[in-house]
Amino acid sequence: MLGLMHLLLWLNDRRSVSYALSVLMSFAAATVALVELSLLNTLSVPEYSRLLQWQNLWVCVLLVSMVWLVYAHLGTARRWLAATITAMWSLTLVVNFAYPASVVFSEISELRRISTFRDESFTLAIGIANPWKLLPDLATVVILLYVIDAANRSWRRGARRPAGLFGGSVVLFMVLAGIHAPLVDAGVVATPYMVSFAFLAIVLAMSYELVSDAVRVSRYARQIEANERRWRSLLQKVQLAIVGVTPGGEIDYVNPFFERISGYGANDILGRPATALAPPADLQKLERALQQAGQGDPEPHSEWTLLCANGEQRKMVWSSVSLFDGEGAVSGFLGIGEDVTERLRSRAELQRTQREIERLRRVGALGELASALAHELNQPLTAILSNAQAARRFMAGGDPDLGELREIIDDIIRDDKRAGEVIHSMRAMVRKGEIDRESFAVDAAIEEVISMLGSELDGQGITIILDFDPALPEVQAGRVEIQQVMMNLVLNAANAMTQTPAGQREIKIAACGDGDGVRVTVHDTGRGLEPEEQGRLFDPFFTTRPEGLGMGLAICRRIIDSHGGRIWARDGKRGGAAFSFTLPAAKAAAA
Ligand code: ADP
Repeated sequence: MLGLMHLLLWLNDRRSVSYALSVLMSFAAATVALVELSLLNTLSVPEYSRLLQWQNLWVCVLLVSMVWLVYAHLGTARRWLAATITAMWSLTLVVNFAYPASVVFSEISELRRISTFRDESFTLAIGIANPWKLLPDLATVVILLYVIDAANRSWRRGARRPAGLFGGSVVLFMVLAGIHAPLVDAGVVATPYMVSFAFLAIVLAMSYELVSDAVRVSRYARQIEANERRWRSLLQKVQLAIVGVTPGGEIDYVNPFFERISGYGANDILGRPATALAPPADLQKLERALQQAGQGDPEPHSEWTLLCANGEQRKMVWSSVSLFDGEGAVSGFLGIGEDVTERLRSRAELQRTQREIERLRRVGALGELASALAHELNQPLTAILSNAQAARRFMAGGDPDLGELREIIDDIIRDDKRAGEVIHSMRAMVRKGEIDRESFAVDAAIEEVISMLGSELDGQGITIILDFDPALPEVQAGRVEIQQVMMNLVLNAANAMTQTPAGQREIKIAACGDGDGVRVTVHDTGRGLEPEEQGRLFDPFFTTRPEGLGMGLAICRRIIDSHGGRIWARDGKRGGAAFSFTLPAAKAAAA
């Protein structure tokens, strides 16, 4: 029964050597039992001898498979000892079949019938002991030492149950069978052979092991089921998009939240390549994330846009997790994505509001400046006017008093100078302490501006392409002012692209050497420049936008001019507009 049960287990799991060895051992024990039964009733010496030979063969199979089972099951046994035992028993078998009366007897002199209780009787052989019998007896001692040693090592490593159960039952079997059988051989005890009875110790231990395995398996199955229920409900309810991908890059799982935000039903999307989920602009990012996850080393965070079923794009932040099979190979990966579209949108909204407030503040300041200017100029201008009118009156009266006239003209000159001073001081006030020059890398300064504007540009679906000459010299300029220029140009470019289709909104910022300095160009894919606008773009208060002030480019020009650079605009060669400016390099400026 035990052999059959292990045979079934082995058929289900052919990799398990332990099962195969258990089958062999159990069937050998059953065969030994049958041979022992035949020996009980044999009356002819040749028949008895032949049966003894066969019994020894099956005892050999039983013991050798048991020795290797201990080796495979406990994992702590010494291989060389197992090999030695196998060799000893192989030699025993050769001797066993070489001698006519097996390895036990050199010669059987008689078969005696022994009566037991209830009129039962059995056959017992009497003969001359074979000197080779020492070999299997020695093997028995080696097996005992081998098993005790393996069980002891396994026990000390903490595997107490298998060590106790397995080691204990094998030792019990060896003591019962290994001591009793030689005593029968030697005629010391007059009983039948009972190797198969001794094997019951092992049967008991292994059956106990089987039952506890079965109990454990059903407990694990319940645990797995509960775990699976918990995971399933988590995947169903979590407010994160979860996408399972095979190592080949095909989608094999999506959760309900993903279906909701993407607009794809599971049936539409399962089996399709994961790359179908990203718009062309983000394809590279997604492919890189997939490749890394395929190597079992996923990027902990990646950002790529999810292309929804209706063409809408959602900004997502993804975490990737690689899944491994039992052998440690990557069996797929999970992308867990958070939808940050709304968050980015509201952040961009907030920034836009902040800038609007800033703009109004500037308009306010400008208004204040204008009224201060008007107030300051009003007085000298009024004085100049009344003096000029008085002079005209003098001259109309004929024969004017030249002395009087000179005085009037002196007053006019004085008032005019004052008006000039007012304007001059106003200009000085506006400019006062503004520019704090330093030497810095333009590319890094531009990158800072882009990251400041990042979420707003993202919100409008604009892709930024940076193209910086690696050998760019540093410039000598006001860093804040140059960043203000960049911010103006980039925001103007963004404003010019509101009518551009979503996938084509692109701002390319290039910086390269230009003579002794650096040239920066901001190129967009927006509406471009009308010929009649081109001459007026940098004029103060020129604007084509209803909410525009028309001061942005004027300020840019003032800043660039004050650095000794140049700023200009042209219609882009491939559509859109291109705004460029130059700045002197740090060394050239210092010289
Ligand atoms: P504002 O943006 O307040 O209108 P600016 O001085 O920044 O003031 O710009 C003036 C005008 O120049 C804008 O109204 C717009 O017509 C035009 N302009 C600026 N940048 C661009 C661009 N990249 N593409 C097309 N037109 C532009």
